[in-house]
Amino acid sequence: MAQKVKMLFKALHVIVVCGLFLASLGSHHAAAQSKPDSLVTIETGELPIILSAPHGGRDAIPGVLERQGEGVDLFNPRSDSGTDHLTEKLADALEKRLGKRPYIVIACFHRKYVDANRPKGDAYESEKAKSAYDTYHQALAKARRDVIRRWGHGILFDIHGQGAKPKAIFRGTQNGKTATHLVSRFGRETLCGETSVFGQLAKQGFPAIPAVGSTDREHLDYDGGYIVITYGSASGGTLDAIQLELGRELRSSEATTSTASKLANAITAFANEYLPKAEQGAEVNNGKQRTEKVRVGVYRDAGAGPSVKDLMGALRRFDGASVRELTADDIRSGRLSSLDVLIQPGGSGGGQGRHLREEGRQEIRKFIREGGGYIGICAGAYLASADYPWSLNVLDAKVIDRKHWVRGKGTVDIALTDVGQSILRSKEQQLAIFYAQGPLLAPGNHADIADYETMATFKTEIAKNGAPEGIMKGTTAIAPGSYGRGRVICFSPHPEMTKGLETLVHYAIIHANQNRSQKQVLQPVERNPDASNP
Ligand SMILES: [Zn+2]
Repeated sequence: MAQKVKMLFKALHVIVVCGLFLASLGSHHAAAQSKPDSLVTIETGELPIILSAPHGGRDAIPGVLERQGEGVDLFNPRSDSGTDHLTEKLADALEKRLGKRPYIVIACFHRKYVDANRPKGDAYESEKAKSAYDTYHQALAKARRDVIRRWGHGILFDIHGQGAKPKAIFRGTQNGKTATHLVSRFGRETLCGETSVFGQLAKQGFPAIPAVGSTDREHLDYDGGYIVITYGSASGGTLDAIQLELGRELRSSEATTSTASKLANAITAFANEYLPKAEQGAEVNNGKQRTEKVRVGVYRDAGAGPSVKDLMGALRRFDGASVRELTADDIRSGRLSSLDVLIQPGGSGGGQGRHLREEGRQEIRKFIREGGGYIGICAGAYLASADYPWSLNVLDAKVIDRKHWVRGKGTVDIALTDVGQSILRSKEQQLAIFYAQGPLLAPGNHADIADYETMATFKTEIAKNGAPEGIMKGTTAIAPGSYGRGRVICFSPHPEMTKGLETLVHYAIIHANQNRSQKQVLQPVERNPDASNP
């Protein structure tokens, strides 16, 4: 039967559906005859959104006794009633608004047999129960991997019920830890502000706790459990996770449809602001699926070195971009407004910065603030830093051991982080790359610029011309940051000069362009065609 389901709903990849829930599913599921003994409802989504509901299940597991909970911390066998149906309705409502369905993982088993929001040791008491638990977590792990691979980043909502405040929703992120990626990429506003999920929920009339705009800590009982800690970005990665604890009145059978609809409004508003619109693959498909090319400008003027030729060569091999060269004059006279991404190449950071003058540097800042992408390679990374009188201050980075910047050239090894592997689509964790006296970056700790993430660090080093050994290793080699609405990526080494790594530049362009393209999709009316048509 599962096969038949897959064939009928290829786009949805329905794997299993709780037998008892069929009646409540939308009409497009009508033919989804699942195995009656299915213990978890799992759907592969077409959005970078995962819905998880571990505590709404009603079913017994054949041959499994109720848990006794001896020696288990925070033992609780009660279900979060209504969260199973609510989550299904939420998926349907999101599909209506966004045209596609989220990933869903919903427990059909009752919490008295298995608690999927606990670590293994506290979650079940028999081997048979273990398989239900494992099914749930394998589905979440796969969904997380999928979302990161397909969209670069995304969000998981773990949906629960609480009995303390009947109309309110509590936020659980371990006080921001499980949404570390979101906050570091787009700022704290995305967690607590008006445009955050809870800001949007408040606009839908739900009392949000902690209150929107406050820096209050989350309620100790609802501050995020095992699922959001495990699958969110607390320990790295680009999937953020938020636990939603809904009051009793919001989950009653009369309220389910209206709650789901309002939740979907809030999540849709959030998604339009912060989540990727298109799958990454669609954009690199050599323009086959993507009709519009990314409009890339390359600075080619005083301070640009000979490596700009390699850069142009690497860009010629990327069909997804249309490329034009820019002088400092072009930038000062407003030409950036017709572009999506600016690349400042290798050469001299000071040479470029001084030649642009404050006027040109202001133009670049404005361009990024409004959603433009910036890629800095070597000198372009020095230029982006916040460390020199001539720098752009668009990446919150300082430069380590500035005195010995003439430390030599050669191939070094860099270690990619999860974020780096995801953005640059690298299967390899370690890459050998050409280095030519690029900056050794470290966090700049400027309060007014968003912190950067680390995409790669130097594993080996070059220390010639009196540069001390042991300084370069471990410093940041590639860093993505955000500045206003725009994205910044800085490479200290030279992917465009390393045979086989030119594609890193292509993926950096796709990443840097994302907010620009979203802005175009979202606000077509606000775009001034005179100012921004190519
Ligand atoms: Zn719960």
